[in-house]
Amino acid sequence: MEDNYRHKGLRKKLIEELVTKGITDQKVLDAMNRVPRHAFIPSGFLEFAYENKAFPIGAEQTISAPYTVAFQSQLLQVEKGMKVLEIGTGSGYQTSVLVEMGAKVFSIERQKLLFDFSKKMMANLKYKCQLAYGDGYKGWPAFAPFDRIIITCAAPRIPEDLLLQLKPGGRLVIPFGEGEMQEMMVIHEDAEGQFITEKHGAFSFVPMLENKNKSEI
Ligand code: SAH
Repeated sequence: MEDNYRHKGLRKKLIEELVTKGITDQKVLDAMNRVPRHAFIPSGFLEFAYENKAFPIGAEQTISAPYTVAFQSQLLQVEKGMKVLEIGTGSGYQTSVLVEMGAKVFSIERQKLLFDFSKKMMANLKYKCQLAYGDGYKGWPAFAPFDRIIITCAAPRIPEDLLLQLKPGGRLVIPFGEGEMQEMMVIHEDAEGQFITEKHGAFSFVPMLENKNKSEI
């Protein structure tokens, strides 16, 4: 995968745009400055790769807009070495950003086409992570518990299994709701072990679908 001066220049500009939009976590900005987003966009659409826009990636799904990836990554508060579960691998772009941040990433995708694509691309780019084809509502019990869980599709409910797979003191970032727009929420535990919900504004995601294929995890 070629990553030339033009790609790097476009990427630097995008990072500057993310800063003006309010992204402050330097670890997120540095990681996004290193991941070649054009590798995750259908070829021939380079000029779209470094615009702050979502883009179709096949199977009626989209790669999230860079600002959305940055915002979710920032809310997640990732530290090096943390175990992170992602639901909705899609293109693998968000997955790569988390790997670049030093997380041990586990990611689940329910579209075979996208699972195959992201698996190949992550291997090409030498991003080490665990990818699974299956239903994210069930989480990934074999590798639980996780320090952080990020959902990159719109969840009509809070998946109980995912809360159970979160470590004490962990954080779950979830776009919640069924309409055209969803509320970005962070769920974490307080000192008494009660779940606290924070709201972080409106975003638009493709839906998190349930029971539409058998889980292979
Ligand atoms: N992070 C991805 C976003 C892709 S869009 C990226 O930046 O490219 C959200 C993805 O969630 C889609 O690929 C969709 O197929 C997937 N998805 C929807 N419901 C799911 C489920 N129940 N389990 C796992 N993945 C799911």
